Amino acid sequence: MMRKRWGKTLLAALLAVSLTACSSTAQQSSGGTPEAAPAPSAPAAGHEAHAVHWSYEGETGPEHWAELGTENGACSSGLEQSPINLDEAKASADAGAAEAIEINYQPSQFTIKNNGHTIQADAVTEDNTITLDGKEYTLAQFHFHVPSEHQMEGKNLDMELHFVHKDADGKLAVVGVLMKAGAANEALSELWSKLPAEETKENIALEKTIDLPALLPQDQDVFRYDGSLTTPPCSEGVEWTVMQEPIEVSQEQIDAFAAIFPDNHRPVQPWNDRDVFSVNQQN
Ligand SMILES: [Zn+2]
Repeated sequence: MMRKRWGKTLLAALLAVSLTACSSTAQQSSGGTPEAAPAPSAPAAGHEAHAVHWSYEGETGPEHWAELGTENGACSSGLEQSPINLDEAKASADAGAAEAIEINYQPSQFTIKNNGHTIQADAVTEDNTITLDGKEYTLAQFHFHVPSEHQMEGKNLDMELHFVHKDADGKLAVVGVLMKAGAANEALSELWSKLPAEETKENIALEKTIDLPALLPQDQDVFRYDGSLTTPPCSEGVEWTVMQEPIEVSQEQIDAFAAIFPDNHRPVQPWNDRDVFSVNQQN
């Protein structure tokens, strides 16, 4: 009870902060939105000073995103929106219909920021890549949601990590990793020791590299489907890959993030006519 009310108060305070924040950072490429940073697929949103404030609650919350600006139309009319409820029983396991994902990550340098909607780590180098259906995508950034955005069999997990990649044509591919309370996650310890509580104007450099492979589960079976950004303008054409096995973070780590963003998840969206593939990774 106490915690919830405290969270609300904090959220109100954050909203007040990010109202200014949203407009002040809006002119930098499309960096304001978690999924979209540096996405060319968000053309209208970042280039005018009037970029509309949005949030996860109340009158600027997810059910109102489309009303906040014409560029957000897909948020309500799109038929391939993210996130979705992932259900092994409903997913297609048609071998060969969707290929496995190849992930080439190594310990790497990042800078971090609070963009008013999440904590985001921006890649300093371009040497982390994934290959999907023969196309290579380069990691641009990763960020977090509390609770998870995707559901597993109707349930949200504690958190979700999104690795956002871009190919040479600007097409986006996101790898989602669900996170559940358990052992402390060492790979996140330096990042967590510097979590910026308020929106940052400049990125904060991390001294150590982040061990990206340690942020992936052992078992790399995945769900794959065609979806969208989970933040305005909800642009479609995003290749989604979600790991079926969650990784662990401690309850303390979850609480530390939730003290800054008590709830920054978009609710699940309808599957409509989409195929969701369950893909077993070899080796
Ligand atoms: Zn995200």
